[in-house]
Amino acid sequence: MSTLTTPRRVERLVRGQPTSDGDGVKLTRVLTQPLQKRLDPFLMLDAFGSDSASDYIGGFPSHPHRGFETVTYMLAGRMRHQDSVGNVGLLEPGSVQWMTAGRGIIHSEMPEQEEGRMAGFQLWVNLAAKDKLTAPAYRDVPPADVPVFTLPSGASVRVIAGESHGVAGAVTRPTTEPLYLDITLPAGVAFEQPVPATHNAFIYVHGGAVEVEGTRVDSERMAILVNDAAADGVRIRALDAAAKVLLISGQPLNEPIAQYGPFVMNTQQEIFQAVKDFQSGVLAT
Ligand code: MN
Repeated sequence: MSTLTTPRRVERLVRGQPTSDGDGVKLTRVLTQPLQKRLDPFLMLDAFGSDSASDYIGGFPSHPHRGFETVTYMLAGRMRHQDSVGNVGLLEPGSVQWMTAGRGIIHSEMPEQEEGRMAGFQLWVNLAAKDKLTAPAYRDVPPADVPVFTLPSGASVRVIAGESHGVAGAVTRPTTEPLYLDITLPAGVAFEQPVPATHNAFIYVHGGAVEVEGTRVDSERMAILVNDAAADGVRIRALDAAAKVLLISGQPLNEPIAQYGPFVMNTQQEIFQAVKDFQSGVLAT
């Protein structure tokens, strides 16, 4: 039985761009800069996954951020986080790290392994202009504290942020109201999620293949979902094998976006100030 009357359709499929970041970490940039306005408040989604240490061993040595939030979700492997606020954390498989850079943070994310698989995602969520210079904050959510529920259909959902089927996520954020679900679907099973019509929404398939209102979405593809004033949610159905899919939505900020690398502000002047503050050593003080 469908609980939705008007599920969103797929507007566009996106393959993502192979690139590297940090000290040579190979990754796929799924949500790239040209999509920032369309997927406001989301600024970036990177997917990383490799069995080869040479693809990740360099890690992400010390670097700054200002003006937004980073959400790291690990599927495999271990990363050590350290930052200028004094936080130290170990990111393990299934864990979530939610970092609010606010006015400034300097951190490193380094592999805590020399072999084996490393896989996961990093999502960047913008902050509203009024919150960009807020105090930095950091939360490590261990795997056992990420809420999970399973429906009678067999669909299993990890609720990283927001709320789904009455289950509150590990993280709740005001203003951008991010929903971040990792959904595991048995073959042929559909999952429905109400999403406010004002939100921008997309899915990323990371196992198997799914169908959204007649459009097939293969593994390692993002599908941007149509914004329709009448749409009341998203319906995702696994095809002939089990599938894994991220569903991400949020309330757009509709503010100017100025990005220079790890700084995301509203104006060029604010970007110059961030660079100046970093160079003079006061970004994260
Ligand atoms: Mn970083």
